[in-house]
Amino acid sequence: MRRFPRERVLVTGGAGFLGSHLCRRLLRDGHDVLCVDNFYTGSRDNVSDLFDDKRFELMRHDITFPLYIEVDRIFNLACPASPVHYQYDPVQTTKTSVHGAINMLGLAKRVGARVFQASTSEIYGDPQVHPQKEDYWGRVNPIGPRSCYDEGKRCAETLFFDYHRQLSLPIKVARIFNTYGPGMRPDDGRVVSNFIVQALLDKPITLYGDGSQTRSFCYVDDLIEGCVRLMDSDDAVTGPMNIGNPAEISVKELAAVVIECCGSKSSIEFRPLPQDDPFQRCPDISLAQKTLDWSPQVSLERGLERTVAWFREQLSD
Ligand code: NAD
Ligand code: UDP
Repeated sequence: MRRFPRERVLVTGGAGFLGSHLCRRLLRDGHDVLCVDNFYTGSRDNVSDLFDDKRFELMRHDITFPLYIEVDRIFNLACPASPVHYQYDPVQTTKTSVHGAINMLGLAKRVGARVFQASTSEIYGDPQVHPQKEDYWGRVNPIGPRSCYDEGKRCAETLFFDYHRQLSLPIKVARIFNTYGPGMRPDDGRVVSNFIVQALLDKPITLYGDGSQTRSFCYVDDLIEGCVRLMDSDDAVTGPMNIGNPAEISVKELAAVVIECCGSKSSIEFRPLPQDDPFQRCPDISLAQKTLDWSPQVSLERGLERTVAWFREQLSD
């Protein structure tokens, strides 16, 4: 695998969950990192450990507005990812995905940068093909409460591929599946952080629907490794490429594993299933395995142990 030499790398959404891990990884690899964020769901605290590093810079900026800087590579991660947060201001969510993509692609075109898009398994919507392969076009409601995110991300993919076809821009599109780990906000609203916080506080675990819906959870270090490898891959590799852990589990089973891992006394509290909640989700990662020689290394049990330990520390502060 070719590693790219020291470069100036822009990470949008760099003060968020995945972005902060990516900034840390890129600095470790010897790059100069410019983290751009409007702190909608992210925060300065997520990257405060990097402030003393002279190769790290933090800029408050909303990517729905143009950005004039000089960089060699762009990782475009800016966008709220939790349904609670992206549905809070759905118009801004679509703007972030669509205007944000146009601005980052325009920047990449002007400075000749390679540009990576953090796309999502939500491209597949509530899928009828299982597990999901990259050539599946998906089943997405265009007018529902999840549409601002799903359709915004689909439109961003369209823009990335049109810039690539029309202007030969080097692009990398990763379809990221549910990822968890240290650094998630306790009030993020996604299932892993919700369950862990509830279990550690011995509060009822909020299970939506009957809990038979499935997800496949990837530990953050594995995800970042896959994204870096995709960015480093040959120009001919554009994606879209699934990056995730194919170990599928029902949400109800996840609740039991989290309760066990936390040694919790929590009970289960059933809540209504949110509209358009996908019934099943599992990546086919054969393309990433073959092209990037990548596959996840961290089991759900091990990843949860590390994540629970981190949340335990946060809650005791
Ligand atoms: P997150 O909400 O923790 O981070 C998103 C970051 O983007 C935050 O720091 C937020 O403040 C910033 N942001 C939002 N709108 C912005 C704007 N207009 N301008 C500048 N910054 C803005 O979410 P995350 O889990 O770290 O997700 C990062 C990316 O990965 C997102 O694009 C998301 O769609 C994608 N993704 C994540 C997952 C996952 O499971 N974590 C799954 C699929 C896709
Ligand atoms: N979920 C749940 N309880 C929660 C949060 C989420 O049962 O407190 C369910 C949710 O309905 C979905 C799954 O867990 O079926 C994953 O939800 P999340 O918001 O993490 O991500 P999604 O994959 O739906 O975008």
